[in-house]
Amino acid sequence: MKIAFYDTKPYDRVWFDPLSEEYAYTIKYFEHRLNPDTVVLSRGCDVVCVFVSDDVSADVIAALCENGIRLIALRCAGYNNVDLKAAEGRLPVVRVPSYSPTAVAEHAAALLLSVNRKTHRAYTRTRDNNFNINGLMGMDLRDKVTGVIGTGKIGMLFAQIAKGFGMRVIANDVSPAEDSGLEYVSPDELFALSDVISLHCPLTKETHHLINAHRVGQMKAGAILINTSRGALVDTDALLEGLKSKKIGGAGLDVYEEEEAYFFEDKSNEIIADDDLARLLSFPNVLITSHQAFFTREAMQAIAMTTMENIFSFSKGDPLVNQVKSTRQG
Ligand code: NAD
Repeated sequence: MKIAFYDTKPYDRVWFDPLSEEYAYTIKYFEHRLNPDTVVLSRGCDVVCVFVSDDVSADVIAALCENGIRLIALRCAGYNNVDLKAAEGRLPVVRVPSYSPTAVAEHAAALLLSVNRKTHRAYTRTRDNNFNINGLMGMDLRDKVTGVIGTGKIGMLFAQIAKGFGMRVIANDVSPAEDSGLEYVSPDELFALSDVISLHCPLTKETHHLINAHRVGQMKAGAILINTSRGALVDTDALLEGLKSKKIGGAGLDVYEEEEAYFFEDKSNEIIADDDLARLLSFPNVLITSHQAFFTREAMQAIAMTTMENIFSFSKGDPLVNQVKSTRQG
């Protein structure tokens, strides 16, 4: 099999190169993202391997078919960047449904601890020989309330971590996990009671702008919001207003509504044209990471292994256990 691998970063090759040898596949690595201009690079390959910011829209899919591509292999869980309707009946789409929920849950906890105790600010201060602690006061997490929205694989692990901190965990999910021991409450109760709200549900039509002006209004004054799920769960305007009015006490964000133009790239020599992102970055109580919650050795290894197994199954004509069939976004 010949694989056209888009949006390649150096760390991808570390995990995919040894496996390509094992499977005797050829991987053509491209630093470009897949889009209508770069789709031509896939000519002569059998498979395209893509990530979260590649453009797999209807036009691109038509061009992939013309180029002889037979499989779209996502090396991520989410597939909101793929036009599944356009792919239906033409190109099967496979993904990596789960790689390391632990990685994401632990990153959510890291964001919470940093935003609460302002370790990101302490780090820059002490490096500048500024040992003043004014403005760095946080709160004890013990006995505070964490509201977890979405108690699937990641949310459940985050709930366990929060319990380890001695927090009371309340949760909301459209399909509550039976016998989980979690205290499920309505969304209204969750927003009113939580000192910390952590988002772990997928981005769907129903969850788009789950955090909006109404929900911010319902929050406890000073609540901390953590989002490691998908940017569009949060209405950025509502978040900015909540931060400006101090209703929201802090935010730890690994994802952002308009992240495609910035995340994963070095933009340090450029002017940030996205005023909302620039404003968010200006708040001392906001910590943004660049969609790195998944980024552990264990997760990268699992991503590479499952992607190659998906391609192997396809080459053998075996059932594609990780084929994406519905239009639900994850
Ligand atoms: P999962 O499918 O195991 O769990 C999602 C849970 O959300 C399910 O229990 C589901 O019932 C619930 N849910 C769906 N709609 C809901 C709604 N309207 N209200 C409340 N709950 C709802 O998924 P997971 O593996 O735990 O992943 C969660 C999300 O994390 C993914 O959808 C993805 O967007 C995100 N993610 C982010 C990264 C990262 O690097 N930042 C990596 C992997 C996954």
